[in-house]
Amino acid sequence: MIAVALDGPSGAGKSTIAQEAARQLGFLHVDTGALYRAIGLLALRKGADVTDPAQVLPLLPEAEISLRFTPEGQRILLQGEDVSEEVRTPRASMAASSVSAMPEVRRFLLELQRDLARKNNVIMDGRDIGTVVLPDAAVKIFLTADPKTRATRRYKELIQKGIDADPDTVLREVEERDYNDSHRAAAPLRQAEDAWLCDTTDLTLAGTVAAVVGYIRERAGI
Ligand code: C5P
Repeated sequence: MIAVALDGPSGAGKSTIAQEAARQLGFLHVDTGALYRAIGLLALRKGADVTDPAQVLPLLPEAEISLRFTPEGQRILLQGEDVSEEVRTPRASMAASSVSAMPEVRRFLLELQRDLARKNNVIMDGRDIGTVVLPDAAVKIFLTADPKTRATRRYKELIQKGIDADPDTVLREVEERDYNDSHRAAAPLRQAEDAWLCDTTDLTLAGTVAAVVGYIRERAGI
């Protein structure tokens, strides 16, 4: 099996690029952010303080989280309910960022991610795929772009999905999540030493996909 680890900060375009690259290569695209979002959503629904491990961790044993793969992409199920849209709201995003700092939450999701990579050729996108989840991945890519560009992309995506948003708030949230993701003790966001750094600030979507697919083909010899 061939594993591609695609890491980087929020809004770098990981999911969109991974989805299209996976389609071209016939690989499964696994969006690991959805897993943390589902736990964040579960905590919100239970009325827990998402920053308090004492309130979040007791929810894990009863958390049923699974992924379903369709030709249109991945769906995320929480207690059997498809919450793929609901996990994308800004509230669920911030909750995901908080719960993902808890080592027990990361451990809870680790085996599910590794199991997918054992059974499928995958492009797995996240924050710690090349460093922690799949340290032996055949191909590692770190995708980034400057924060303003990422916030603008995220804002457009939210508006397109009919989710009400304000550009300044989106930028602030992107910066806040960057800070949380790279400063947490448990599996912080950082580029693996053997990852290729791809900065998409001045690249088009099609240009980035072509570069990423080209790099994967070259590294994996396919
Ligand atoms: O990628 P996405 O924005 O959907 O991720 C949501 C949140 O989940 C991020 O802010 C990050 O804190 C967390 N995350 C993580 N490790 C991953 C994927 C996502 O900590 N592999």
